[in-house]
Amino acid sequence: MPYRIFNFNPGPATLPLEVLEEARDEMLNYRDTGISVMEMSHRSPEFEEIINSAQSLFLEVAELSSEHQVLFLQGGASLQFSMVPFNFLTPDATADYIVTGSFAKKALQEGAKIGKTNIAASNDSNNYTAIPRQEDIALSSNSAYLHLTTNNTIYGTQWKYVPESGSVPLIADMSSDILSRKMEMKKFDLIYAGAQKNLGPAGVTVVVISTSLLEQASSSLPPILSYKTHAENGSLYNTPPCFPIYIVKLVLEWLKKKGGLAAVQEANEKKAHLLYNVIDKSDGYYTGHAVKKDRSEMNVTFHLPEEQLEKEFLDKASSEGLIGLKGHRSVGGIRASIYNAMPIEGCETLAQFMKDFKQKH
Ligand code: PMP
Repeated sequence: MPYRIFNFNPGPATLPLEVLEEARDEMLNYRDTGISVMEMSHRSPEFEEIINSAQSLFLEVAELSSEHQVLFLQGGASLQFSMVPFNFLTPDATADYIVTGSFAKKALQEGAKIGKTNIAASNDSNNYTAIPRQEDIALSSNSAYLHLTTNNTIYGTQWKYVPESGSVPLIADMSSDILSRKMEMKKFDLIYAGAQKNLGPAGVTVVVISTSLLEQASSSLPPILSYKTHAENGSLYNTPPCFPIYIVKLVLEWLKKKGGLAAVQEANEKKAHLLYNVIDKSDGYYTGHAVKKDRSEMNVTFHLPEEQLEKEFLDKASSEGLIGLKGHRSVGGIRASIYNAMPIEGCETLAQFMKDFKQKH
């Protein structure tokens, strides 16, 4: 195998090479401390500097003001499925969920264990190939919040607009497209994302919460489940995942250096276009799962004419250093996850591979 191959895994996913190199260079002796970040006290001035810069860099790159606060938590995006209702779903209210895929459904199911929920819109009936339109979304009369998943990792669909929710707090699982494009992030009262796709390694979950929503959070929860606890303690209520937070900081510096969200959006559009273009020009050999208007720029999902060909495609791709392309078992086929850190060369190589494969099979 060559030194680095193209890794299309959906998460944990490829990281920017520059970030890995910087982490390697600082691994044994972080800035003359004589120790690694992995060995450092989370209450040391050096770590405080790391976590504070990660927080402020996140706000800067996301183009958010201090109206939002950034938290670094554990438990994955999955813990947020229950932290959100625990903190904001009161007995008199109903939580609205838009169900656009498996993770959105899980969020709904966990909410339903805690309080009253309503499906504000769903595209379950068309096997999650599309995103609902604004007019398809029906909020309940006493809504605690509206929850959506901005990018559906398994199905390869992505919201291209931010839905209007009026005065109802808007909450989003952005695990698989956070900071991948320009977006009105300030319209969201709470955003969460497991880091392992677009932000860093597994082990840390980023939560961005508005001050106004934070004020409404429950004060009677076990402290580890309470956003208030984590906000009041600057994400240091308990020992945080120090090393993953450090890598997130390096990824944010890398994003900023690349030109921020506008630049990363342009790059991501180009990358996705390379693959969708091959699909669209393949005379039906490759068929995309998502409807064109809702195609994800992060997870490109498609099928070949037969399952056997898909198996051959995966084996051949892997032997050529293109790995992690197997679709999720609920959709099958192929999924190319092309998050921020996937270089354009990865998509060019895969696009050429797809053309050659079709030619030969
Ligand atoms: N939401 C989305 C959109 C995801 O893609 C994933 C993981 N693939 C999750 C939630 C679950 O995240 P975690 O494994 O960090 O709990």
